[in-house]
Amino acid sequence: LSDLPNYVGSQNTFLQAVEDVANDVLPVEKNDPAYAAAKVLRRLAEPDRVLSFRVTWEDDDGEVQTNRAWRVQASNVIGPYKGGLRFHPTVNEDILKFLAFEQCFKNALTGLPLGGAKGGSDFDPKGRSKREVMRFCQALMRELAPFIGPDRDVPAGDINVGTEEIGYLFGAWRKHAELFEGALTGKGLSYGGSEMRVEATGFGLIYFVECMLSERGDDIAGKRVAISGKGNVATHAALKAAERGAVVVSLSDTSGTLHVADGMSADLIQWVQAQKAAGKDIDTPPSGSGATFNAGGVPWELDVDIALPCATQNELTGDMAKMLVDNSVSLVAEGANMPLTSDAVDILRRNDITHAPGKASNAGGVAVSGLEMSQMSHRRFMSAEEVDAELKGIMQDLHGRVADEGRDGGRIDYARGANMAAYRRLADAIVAQGII
Ligand code: NDP
Repeated sequence: LSDLPNYVGSQNTFLQAVEDVANDVLPVEKNDPAYAAAKVLRRLAEPDRVLSFRVTWEDDDGEVQTNRAWRVQASNVIGPYKGGLRFHPTVNEDILKFLAFEQCFKNALTGLPLGGAKGGSDFDPKGRSKREVMRFCQALMRELAPFIGPDRDVPAGDINVGTEEIGYLFGAWRKHAELFEGALTGKGLSYGGSEMRVEATGFGLIYFVECMLSERGDDIAGKRVAISGKGNVATHAALKAAERGAVVVSLSDTSGTLHVADGMSADLIQWVQAQKAAGKDIDTPPSGSGATFNAGGVPWELDVDIALPCATQNELTGDMAKMLVDNSVSLVAEGANMPLTSDAVDILRRNDITHAPGKASNAGGVAVSGLEMSQMSHRRFMSAEEVDAELKGIMQDLHGRVADEGRDGGRIDYARGANMAAYRRLADAIVAQGII
């Protein structure tokens, strides 16, 4: 019995996310009679429902395996539930409640009709064969299928759930529903996916950073940029930043940091992508790439202008934020969801370092998922150039809304701006739809 996982645990990560929003929006809610009467934040802090289910599957040795999975449907007040699925041993209800809550705000900021949800499982795909991953995805979808659909809840990818896993999940959903509809996004191009979905979060992050810099009359060319992570978001942000003339000095994983003092080439970033896809480490970079690997090191020790945490939640602690301050970083934009601890956020704020929260700066992925949903329902697909242009427009509009809400004298408080702009859209919809 002592080996049985504890799924109940605490909900500290969820509370951290709610507190962050509450600090900004509660003063406004209290002074607005309609919002106050509707108790908007109290309602948003309670997910509509939390589905929790057992997933049982057979591994390659014929042994029965059991995992737990969840779907947190937080709010569908402005559109169908929408948010990714994560497969990782650290997944639990606390993490998914936090991510689903954040997703409501992020999706509201895109301006698209998308509600908020998140899901996933404590399944660890590391060391599993493709056939095992496929069987796991099929077993998970057997349980989840009755609760999703194109106008109901539209899951997508997240950590360890990429195009391949979405393919297995979509195949299983299609068989269950006996329909060919867009019940998932992040699909392959041969069966209803959108161009640019894979690149969208990382590219969108750089478009957002360019808007932040242009507020100061500056641009990204020549800026030294530290990026953490080596996954989808990190590597696409690195490729786009390098294409725009930035000097990308790092990528990283849980074992350490890959560093190139005078900037990573596109070839080296693509090597990192290939290593990640093959489940291999990045500690032995190709000779001639100019890269060194610092085992156990973090990118925040490096001397840079811009820091982009793109790995996971709470990866950047207060001590690391002090390193950024000591190294005179002037801008931090989140590619991951809530990658900064609360004390790291405080340190940046006290030192007047511009900081964009993920709900604003990493919204490019879900925005292109929204475009995938409309392309699928119209059965008309856009070219990569068209999607990229739409993505850039969405990130620029989103930046404008957040900056307008967050402007405070000569500076912009992006965190408050994002919380307030999203809150107003959600609150107006909640008030309009009555007590339900
Ligand atoms: P991936 O699974 O593609 O990559 C995540 C990578 O981060 C892994 O390679 C992992 O390394 C590394 N990592 C985990 N923890 C740390 C750490 N503490 N320090 C350094 N590296 C670490 O995930 P994504 O790129 O898709 O997602 C990254 C983040 O972005 C998540 O917070 C996700 O929620 C968020 N996000 C993703 C979107 C998307 O479209 N994919 C959209 C919006 C947000 P290792 O291999 O060693 O485990």
